[in-house]
Amino acid sequence: MKIQIQHIPAEGITLTYSKAAKEFPVLTALMKEEGGCFQGPLIIKLAVVPERELFKVSGVVEVDVQLDCSRCLKQIQDRLSRRFTLRFSKEIPQDLHGGDNEEVELTAEQIGLIFFRGEEIDFKDAVQEQVVLAMPFKPLCNEACKGLCPHCGTDLNVESCACTSERSGSPFAVLKDWRASTEGKRKTKP
Ligand SMILES: [Zn+2]
Ligand SMILES: [Zn+2]
Repeated sequence: MKIQIQHIPAEGITLTYSKAAKEFPVLTALMKEEGGCFQGPLIIKLAVVPERELFKVSGVVEVDVQLDCSRCLKQIQDRLSRRFTLRFSKEIPQDLHGGDNEEVELTAEQIGLIFFRGEEIDFKDAVQEQVVLAMPFKPLCNEACKGLCPHCGTDLNVESCACTSERSGSPFAVLKDWRASTEGKRKTKP
């Protein structure tokens, strides 16, 4: 996923890639952690346009995934899709000079600027980061998923269980228990 900057015409260029998820080590590791998997390649479309001394990259990355619902653990098929605009710069632009290096780095990050060395831009890390950002923090099979009963493990989307009445007050009961235990701990501290 590299391009020689000399191959980017003034009017810009559109690039399309299809890449296996295993080519992205961070994504593979993250997915392993989540207990899901990628279903097919990442489809990446990039429009690269020279913009003064920068290169503006507007893109979209899409990939089909299989994840576990964070409430009921059911497998869900989902399509991650993320649009992004990034700017690649070979050098620090003039208006970012001055101050110490840390300050420059922060400013560059704030405006979505990515530096590259030499005559070649590699999009791989940037695309990988966009997929990480597209990954749902708590995947759900359905916004209204009732999850599993915390007491007996019954899938409450399918059937109710005998613990239902007890469970209705449980979030507060749990909080109360937690408060009692932390207060207890506080009291025992010297
Ligand atoms: Zn669910
Ligand atoms: Zn139950």
